[in-house]
Parts: sequence; C-alpha cells; structure tokens
Amino acid sequence: MIEEVVVISPRGFCAGVARSVKVVEDCLRIFGAPVYIKHAIVHNKTVVHDLEEKGAVTVESVSDIPRGSIAIFSAHGSPPAHYAEARDREIRVIDATCPLVAKVHIEMHKFLKDGYRVVYIGHKGHVEGLGVIGEAQQYGQEIPVIESVDDIERLPYGAEEKIAMLTQTTLSIDETRDLMKALHKKFPMIIEAPAQDICYATTNRQQAIRALAEEVDIVLVVGSQTSSNSKRLQEVAQQKGCLTYLIDSAEEIKKEWFSGVKKVGITAGASAPEYKVQEIVAQFVAGGAKYREVEVIKENIYFTEPIELMKIKNGGI
Ligand code: SF4
Repeated sequence: MIEEVVVISPRGFCAGVARSVKVVEDCLRIFGAPVYIKHAIVHNKTVVHDLEEKGAVTVESVSDIPRGSIAIFSAHGSPPAHYAEARDREIRVIDATCPLVAKVHIEMHKFLKDGYRVVYIGHKGHVEGLGVIGEAQQYGQEIPVIESVDDIERLPYGAEEKIAMLTQTTLSIDETRDLMKALHKKFPMIIEAPAQDICYATTNRQQAIRALAEEVDIVLVVGSQTSSNSKRLQEVAQQKGCLTYLIDSAEEIKKEWFSGVKKVGITAGASAPEYKVQEIVAQFVAGGAKYREVEVIKENIYFTEPIELMKIKNGGI
C-alpha cells in the first residue's frame, strides 16, 4: 500500500509559461475568438486543449493564419522569417516568446555580428532551436546543432577559430556540462554566453527532482512527451536509479507500477498545469496515503506581459 505521497516544489509552470498562457487568455478576452497561435503555445497537451476549448486555434505555420488576424507566437520563440511573413500577410503578432529564449536570440546576433562561428547545444529539430538558428540566416551562416560528443568530433573548424557556443534553455544540466567540456577541449578559444542559457526553471526543477528521487520509490513527472524540460526531469530521476514515469494525467497511471512501492514522489514539468498534479495527489490520498509538500528551492520570478499587449491594454492600437 502507498503510505506517502511527496510533492516537491518548484514544479509546474515557470514564469515564461505562466506569461504565455496569460497572453492567450488576455487576447481571447480583448479580441474574442478565434485567436491564432503559431505552434503549441507551450508543450503541454492539457494547456493547449484547455485554451482551444476557449477559442484559441493552434496552427503550425504563418501561412495557416488568415490574413489580417491576431496571432500569438509561442513561448519557444520564432525565426525572423516568421515575423516577416506575418508582416507581409498583415497579421498582428503578439509575441509570447519567453524573455529567456529571446535572450539567446540576442546572444546569437551579438556573436554573429562580432564574427564568431556559433555552435548550438540542443535537440535537433526542436522548435526553440529552430527559432534561434533562424537568426543566422541573415548572416549566411549555418549553425551546427550539437547533441553528442560525436557531433563535436565532426565539427570542421580549426582549434584557433573564433567560435562561440549557445544552448537550448531546457537541457539536462549534467549532459550539457559534459558537452561544453568537450567543446572547450576541442576548441580552447571557444567562448560562452555571459550568462548560462539553461534557464532558472530548468535548473531548479532538475535540482528538486534529484533530491526527490533519493527519498521515494517511484517518481511521477506530470508533463507531455513533447515537453523537453519534462523529459529531462524524467531522465534526471532515472539517472538516480529511481523508477520514473512521465504522464499527462491521472488516467495514465497503471496499478502495476506500484508493486512494493511505499513512497511516491510527484513533480511537474514547466508547462504542466497544477490542477493535473492535484488530481493525481487526490487519487493517492483517497487510497489512504499521507501527503507531504517539500520546497527544495524557493522561486519568485515573474515576467511582464509583451509590450504589444501592454500598449493595447493601455488604449493604444
Ligand atoms: Fe522560459 Fe525557462 Fe520557462 Fe522555457 S522553461 S518558458 S526558457 S522560463
């Protein structure tokens, strides 16, 4: 029988996700449905579904947005070409790109302007990386995406070249550290962005799950398979030797996972809504488990809304 369910914080919505969800809700209130969103506003099935119920329409490309509509660009960021296409189609863009992703775009520009070759540590094909790499188009540079030490070995640059590295915001801290070390070894002159690109929310949630995995028999990570930061949480707990499942909701839980299990740990990826965590907790508590909340790190970060939305709320056009 499950004796205890331990829920850790920080978990769930980060400041960037909270901001982008609020942007969609505000736009629906101000403009009415439909409001178009380019790419899933955040990588979570429940959040996307809940907003679509309210009138948001998720599309994958700017060409799917009707000319002259209101469109929100997702938290993951977009390449400059998408903004240009929206301008051509007279689409009014409300940009929900997380400020911490926008920071990586700015760093990319700065390095390219200063004549560096840039390498990007991230997941190939991930929408955040595609946005950041898209910045390089105007400089005529192709940015290699690094996922492994083999990718580093294949880089055709000389040891003395001017090279800079950037990273995706939601990577595993440990794996990224290893890749950064390998890059420093192969290119002794390589430079990094002035501040770490892996964001505070990724770092804090990984640190918290590491502590959780040490004291429970099984960890449930609430989040979607498409969520990079949620998948990294699962990997971090697994690397600690803890049985770990990534689930969107209580309905996905299977009885056979809990044979011999006494303590269950729960956390949530940065895009997973709290009510899905509470539904799971309620299920265990109803079965007789005690509930304990553990705060590993205190988080107190908020982002202001996008400037375009602020102007509209203040009576601008
Ligand atoms: Fe921004 Fe980090 Fe949240 Fe991504 S995980 S939206 S970078 S705060």
